[in-house]
Amino acid sequence: AQQRYAGLRDLPALSRDGRTIGLQMNAGLMADLPSLEGSGADGVGLFRTELQFLIRNKMPKRDELARLYARVIDAANGRRVAFRTLDIGSDKVLPYMKPQDEPNPAMGWRAIRVGLDKPGVLRMQAQALIRASNGRPLSIMFPFIAEHVEFITARAHVLDQLDREAAMGHPTPRAIEIGAMLETPSLAFAPRAFFEATDFVSIGGNDLKQFFFAADRENERVRRRYDTLNASFLGFIAQIVARCTDTQTPLSFCGEDAGRPVEAVCLAAMGLHTLSMRPASIGPVKSLIRRTDLAALRAVIDENCAAGVETVRPAVMDFLARQTD
Ligand code: PEP
Ligand code: MG
Repeated sequence: AQQRYAGLRDLPALSRDGRTIGLQMNAGLMADLPSLEGSGADGVGLFRTELQFLIRNKMPKRDELARLYARVIDAANGRRVAFRTLDIGSDKVLPYMKPQDEPNPAMGWRAIRVGLDKPGVLRMQAQALIRASNGRPLSIMFPFIAEHVEFITARAHVLDQLDREAAMGHPTPRAIEIGAMLETPSLAFAPRAFFEATDFVSIGGNDLKQFFFAADRENERVRRRYDTLNASFLGFIAQIVARCTDTQTPLSFCGEDAGRPVEAVCLAAMGLHTLSMRPASIGPVKSLIRRTDLAALRAVIDENCAAGVETVRPAVMDFLARQTD
């Protein structure tokens, strides 16, 4: 299958109606780095830093992390890498951290909540990232931000580390962008000041969908019950797009749906300009984008939503089947 898409590697994800969609890859392990060249990704839209913590039996040290992050930035060769700070708790339990006995870990003490309550690791990670960037641009995003103040507080920790590094005379990043993952519905309703403050927003669709439908992403029985192409969910995505457009906040999507071609073209039609996915999905997604008139697809989605359908999937499948190659 990879062979089939090899010819597309160096072509842009340009839709029939002339929109170019940025296709980036999700990564987290050193083993993912060769895919950066092989897949034709424009960058790394999500680097899951917790994977480096999960494969060890003790907390990694700052200098070791700085070396790892520097290798990632080197491998990206000038392309953007969005480093997501530690997203632990929920399904990702560190072997060297005291297990929390929580009835609902996905809604519990996880991700940035841990980072804000015990900022030592967040600050250590920020320092490692700043050192790794060594004068190059740096992009950091926080997982599971639920409200404006969490973003401001997490960002203050990073900016404080930046000041300390500068005061020590160490090189600081040439440019730094600090963004938030939108994974809880509450953040979509944050005050305008949040959207103005953040440098970018990345929708974590796996978590966002689980909390939108209140359907556990780990529970086979309910996981597939609600369609991503559900009209209410797409309407919600449209609202997020509108808030980001209004405040000129760059918006991307990095959940698993970004790597499913049908879902990906629908997200692009809803106004997402950047999608981040597992490297093997880039070929199939690019191939479908290049065959699709996104404005015409959007019209089909809007008509069907207005007509009150539960999911636009049948209409979308019908539209895509009627497109010629
Ligand atoms: C998401 O929730 O969509 C996401 C990208 O983060 P993770 O899958 O690591 O929770
Ligand atoms: Mg998530």
